[in-house]
Amino acid sequence: MNTIISDIDKVLNKISLGETQISEEFIEQFGEDIKQSLRDWSTPRESKDFSLRFSNIGKPLRKLWYEKRNPSDKPIEPSLSLKFLYGHMLEHLVVLLVRLSGNTVSDQQKEVTINGIKGHLDCKINNKVVDVKSASRFAFTKFQKGLISEDDPFGYIAQLSAYEHAESSEGGYFLVINKESGELCVYEPEELDKPDVPILINNVVSSLDSESKPTKCFPTVAEGKKGNMKIDKNCNYCEFKKDCYQDSNNGKGLRAFQYSKGLTFLETVKSEPKVEEVYEW
Ligand code: SF4
Repeated sequence: MNTIISDIDKVLNKISLGETQISEEFIEQFGEDIKQSLRDWSTPRESKDFSLRFSNIGKPLRKLWYEKRNPSDKPIEPSLSLKFLYGHMLEHLVVLLVRLSGNTVSDQQKEVTINGIKGHLDCKINNKVVDVKSASRFAFTKFQKGLISEDDPFGYIAQLSAYEHAESSEGGYFLVINKESGELCVYEPEELDKPDVPILINNVVSSLDSESKPTKCFPTVAEGKKGNMKIDKNCNYCEFKKDCYQDSNNGKGLRAFQYSKGLTFLETVKSEPKVEEVYEW
């Protein structure tokens, strides 16, 4: 049984009772990890071109197809950039806690390759591949309840599977910290939920090379009971939705309506909504 969380809880209790101290060695290591996060975060990427990596091989295929053809030249939102930085820092804090709890950490940031596609392991803990994630409350709950296997828009399970495949290892898992509450959880996906990584990579490469768009990533969802259909919640945040759904509403494209629950994008309008339509989005 995985005892990482209880091991960490024990060491945190000891620290709060003043029964143990963090060794200089661990403090130094943590400092080095944080320095590296800052370097990685602030070092410009060698190329702005799209590249396939372990971290995106499981993303929705049609979205990847668009990303390959429309590499963004805009800076990411300042708040998002900052969120990436403190997310990485938090992940290093979790690795420090694992070390303090007496478990063995190895292969931190090890570069691995499959068919020319690269990835970097977060680490191995007691020789098992582990992907450390910092998550919002919503995403944390999905890991905690094992719902990530049904709803994985960022391809986390494919990413973990790729690390395992590259290392010929089994029993890998996610170690997740809730950014808001400090809670930790472990989620080990079932073997049956993991893709065959070389087949996945071949499929992704050939779909991205093809001129025809892959099928839509998510089905539409009924909005109300009068036949209106809206795009999936994962499509709401997609920067390519306008082009992706240009054929919707008999060729007029998506229509946006300001409901009290937020902006809703309708793919089919059978019954005109009684709320304001938004034209600039
Ligand atoms: S709008 Fe939805 S279906 Fe289209 S590319 Fe984006 S995520 Fe995929």
